[in-house]
Amino acid sequence: AARGAAPGLVLGRWMPRGIDLLLAQGAITKTGAAFLPFDWDAPVDRIATCLTDCAAIGLVTDETGLSRGKAIPVPHHNAGTLLAEGGMEEAEPAEAMPDHAAYMIYTSGSTGIPKGIVITQANICHFLRAGNAVYGVTADDVVFQSASVAFDLSMEEIWVPYLAGATLYVATPEVLADIEKLPALLTEKKVSVIDTVPPLLSVLPAELPGLRLLLLGGEALPPALVEKWTRPGRRIFNTYGPTEATVVAPVEEVQRGTPVPIGRPIPNYTAYIVDENMNLLGPGQEGELLIGGPGVAQGYLARPDLTNEKFIANPFREGASDPILYRSGDAVSLNGEGNIAFHGRIDDQVKIRGFRVELGEIESALVDSDDVLQAAVVVRNDGGMERLVAFCVPEPKAIIAATTLREELKRRLPPYMIPERFESVPEEPRLISGKTDRKALKAMPLSEAIFAAND
Ligand code: AMP
Repeated sequence: AARGAAPGLVLGRWMPRGIDLLLAQGAITKTGAAFLPFDWDAPVDRIATCLTDCAAIGLVTDETGLSRGKAIPVPHHNAGTLLAEGGMEEAEPAEAMPDHAAYMIYTSGSTGIPKGIVITQANICHFLRAGNAVYGVTADDVVFQSASVAFDLSMEEIWVPYLAGATLYVATPEVLADIEKLPALLTEKKVSVIDTVPPLLSVLPAELPGLRLLLLGGEALPPALVEKWTRPGRRIFNTYGPTEATVVAPVEEVQRGTPVPIGRPIPNYTAYIVDENMNLLGPGQEGELLIGGPGVAQGYLARPDLTNEKFIANPFREGASDPILYRSGDAVSLNGEGNIAFHGRIDDQVKIRGFRVELGEIESALVDSDDVLQAAVVVRNDGGMERLVAFCVPEPKAIIAATTLREELKRRLPPYMIPERFESVPEEPRLISGKTDRKALKAMPLSEAIFAAND
């Protein structure tokens, strides 16, 4: 606060996992400013783009960040120095109002530029209470804090426990480095709640005797994972939600041996299923999910066109508590029990290890390379794992060299958005509409049968 942080302003935060990061998060919140979190491995160029886009007043980081991020054009603050100065506990919290931003998250943008989602104090404060009315985290729980803080699942994982007075067991890089030892460590620390994305859970053994609550979201929950993790007395929830609707919208407590729906809206949230002409659909009919209620964000920062496209006036109910609906881009249907079933995306957005990726953003970074004329990226499952594969048409006389392209992309995109493989093709397969035929690319034989991570 002494350095100018106050309600209505944004501060970036770029720190490695650990308790200092959570202290910095709490401190920024206490000043009433909004925090904009970056993953520790985010590229400096991307951090600079986002901080400039939202006119952030500064970046809170550590010694390493200070030297690595010299080129980032906002004032830098050393978290260690700020913490050593003290005063955080005595400081009165600033009077942030419900409409002040609480945090911002930039997600992949299909046109090549990340888009900033502004979540207000009202959005998140409501979500924490509504979410925990369903989950029931209590002061006796120990919650494993392992999510990336650039992902809004971490808001649920960190702030629901604060609300309930639970304990956080914070995963440092050392804790996460040794997966073999992790189960014993989680048992020793009496971890009772894990909140994560399905692909990360699948690397753990299900034998965690103290684990009573498992929250799984961010992408479709495979029934096999429910099967594996079900134990007497353990509750498992499939949590679904876009960042734009504040963490989670519908939720379902799932049972083994049954299909895994995304369920029903949490308290005060609403859901509608519509066709392309915004007609409401009945049970069994597949359409787009629209989300309403107190979690719906105000829109994308300084992107009126995109905001108007995705955040629409509620055409179904006037004067209700859900005046604005967010168009999720997800295809869903209502089943016979009144639960929503998830069927996939209606656009080119994909999930890679829980991270949301617009394939168009990678493609536009690729065509910026001098060697690439056209590019199409798809998710393929060649070696039992989902990976991004880029199909590039070279510029005349150029060649597609994976090492060069990887280096170029690394400067702009986070590691999870870098394709693992770059294929050179004479032309992109097209649909009659002229769009790239992604199905054909998914089926196209790769130039080498063996999938090498570092070709
Ligand atoms: P994000 O904003 O990163 O949370 O990504 C939101 C998108 O992730 C949604 O629009 C869905 O496409 C997908 N998603 C999130 N949770 C689930 C879930 N439980 N089941 C299926 N898809 C999900």
